[in-house]
Amino acid sequence: MINVNRLIRTYGDFTAIDDVSFEIAQGEIVGLLGHNGAGKTTIMKMLTGFLEPTSGSITIDGLDIREQREAIQRKIGYLPENCPVYPEMTVIDYLNYAAALHGVPEAERLERVREAITKTELTEKATQFINTLSRGYRQRVGVAQSLLHHPDILILDEPTNGLDPSQVQHMRNLIKEAAQHATVILSTHILQEVQAVCDRVIIVRAGQKVLDSRMEDLRSASRLLVTVQAEPGKVDAALKEVAEIQSVKQLSDDSNRQSYALTFRDQTGPQQCAPVVASALLEQGCALYAMQPEQRTLESIFLETAAR
Ligand code: ATP
Repeated sequence: MINVNRLIRTYGDFTAIDDVSFEIAQGEIVGLLGHNGAGKTTIMKMLTGFLEPTSGSITIDGLDIREQREAIQRKIGYLPENCPVYPEMTVIDYLNYAAALHGVPEAERLERVREAITKTELTEKATQFINTLSRGYRQRVGVAQSLLHHPDILILDEPTNGLDPSQVQHMRNLIKEAAQHATVILSTHILQEVQAVCDRVIIVRAGQKVLDSRMEDLRSASRLLVTVQAEPGKVDAALKEVAEIQSVKQLSDDSNRQSYALTFRDQTGPQQCAPVVASALLEQGCALYAMQPEQRTLESIFLETAAR
């Protein structure tokens, strides 16, 4: 369990991370989504113990990052932004060296390196110098490095940045496969990335958390959009009859037709309540022109949060 509480990070007078809190349970795949400069890398550097928070706390499996940084780092596999690897080493030598740095016992290193090379499909490139690899393959070396010590938590900063579409697909598969054994936090400014691999999204904007939601909750419609033609007061009277309705927001009134967005109480959603709402409106003599559950996409939500 990762627990981030009231995290603040300043650079001089500038507040890069402004009072961010969240919890991540074991096995989740969480996308940190935000524009360039939103604060994703800063959060990741603090989670991995490479940057001190100005204030606030981070605990991982009950360990405090300020007091037990090394113990926490042993649990984490980290792909930093821009994937720093040693270009003058071969893939296999670099991974062997990285395994030693991760504290993998010498007797196990070869097997771990072989396993990481297989998972990241680097076998053909294993003896090649890293500076002769394409960006996508170099990125795979970075991911292979992060897997060597079988971490419980994988933190990947922009793992698909600069990759071509087939490499992106390969990286997504790799992340999903890694997520079977580890909690994964990845950062990206690409919505499709989150949609493709994550089961939860945290949107960061200007250093603040503006949304934290499970993907399935975002996908399920939460509002019912209704368009009617009715005399004043009749819509109000009809909707008051429906106990499940929590709120009514008028969207437009062009003198001819009126549109409303309805939200519902806890367990009831627009799908279940639509027939009851329709009967109530018809009983009051309202002409019903349209009724549909609102389809929200991550894109529309991202734009909504940007407009706030
Ligand atoms: P990107 O998607 O471009 O990598 P990001 O969401 O990862 O962006 P950060 O790199 O965390 O954003 O940066 C957050 C803010 O903090 C930015 O405004 C950035 O310019 C600023 N910042 C980051 N590192 C430093 C630093 N060492 N000194 C001063 N400002 C910094």
